[in-house]
Amino acid sequence: MAQKTYKLLGYPLAHSLSPFIHERLFQLSKKNSIYDLYEISQQNFEQNVESLLKNDGLNITIPYKVAIIKHLDKIDERAKLYNSVNTVHCGEKETVGYNTDCYGFLQGIKDLGTSLDAGPVLLLGAGGAANMIATEVALTGSRLTIAVRESGLPRAEALRNQLMTVNAACYVNVTTLDQIEGSYNLLVNATPVGMYPHMNECPVSKEVISSVKYVYDLIYNPVETKLIQMARELSIPAANGISMLVWQAVYAHKIWYQADFKKEDIDKLIRDTEENIVNHFVQKLSDRDTQKS
Ligand code: NAP
Repeated sequence: MAQKTYKLLGYPLAHSLSPFIHERLFQLSKKNSIYDLYEISQQNFEQNVESLLKNDGLNITIPYKVAIIKHLDKIDERAKLYNSVNTVHCGEKETVGYNTDCYGFLQGIKDLGTSLDAGPVLLLGAGGAANMIATEVALTGSRLTIAVRESGLPRAEALRNQLMTVNAACYVNVTTLDQIEGSYNLLVNATPVGMYPHMNECPVSKEVISSVKYVYDLIYNPVETKLIQMARELSIPAANGISMLVWQAVYAHKIWYQADFKKEDIDKLIRDTEENIVNHFVQKLSDRDTQKS
């Protein structure tokens, strides 16, 4: 059978974990396929995109998740809802765009032991990823609090108005990170606070963390953020964003060739991806220390 080719389009892609994850998924499926990074600048995107759609499948990342849409024959319901495509199936007859980030997130919190309909959700941030998560919460009808820094309030208010168009009956409260009140089933961090190199920062206080049952931090570098560390000290189950990253890739393989994986193989891939990040991260720190000395 002819070797199939898949590419990740984006810019920049230097630190992408996608080849590590997708190559493992092709191995698990016993598929002899090639997965390449295709770093493409904005001025070259439009003139190359049609020939890139001749691959068997694509992943799309920043900054092309919206720009790709007008080149596709169809997009699925979730991609339409978020106006964002991260996976393309390039069939013989048509090209179809999907958004698998939401499935990755939902499976990530399932692995943690909870779900969006299990109780109120506290969402930190109102950017791209928060928009997707807030929409999924609105679809379930659970109570949602969006907490942002002071300057982010207009963006959070705009998100709340948008959620009303998804589900007019949803209950959405907007507040600032230092004024969070109440108790929640799940806290989701969709801000970059705590990400390398600002590892000592935590978006909320210990008091807020102690008012939640589960913590999911979308950040995966470092693998244990200050937020996760504080939650674990309080015996609150907490996970990083690696499970979301791996599961959104798993869904891409289901779309490309109806792949079916064993849960234990994906759990192992999540652990191995974490180990890969830890090794690179340790390497980066030691490189930095060498440069300083
Ligand atoms: P984004 O669109 O830039 O949104 C970032 C959000 O965080 C905005 O609401 C922004 O508020 C807020 N923010 C930024 N700096 C802040 C600070 N110092 N204090 C408080 N709030 C701050 O980014 P995104 O694409 O949604 O990504 C958010 C995070 O999720 C990133 O860490 C990203 O790496 C991670 N992520 C992980 C996955 C995964 O698969 N695990 C997938 C997607 C994203 P303003 O509006 O005030 O700037």
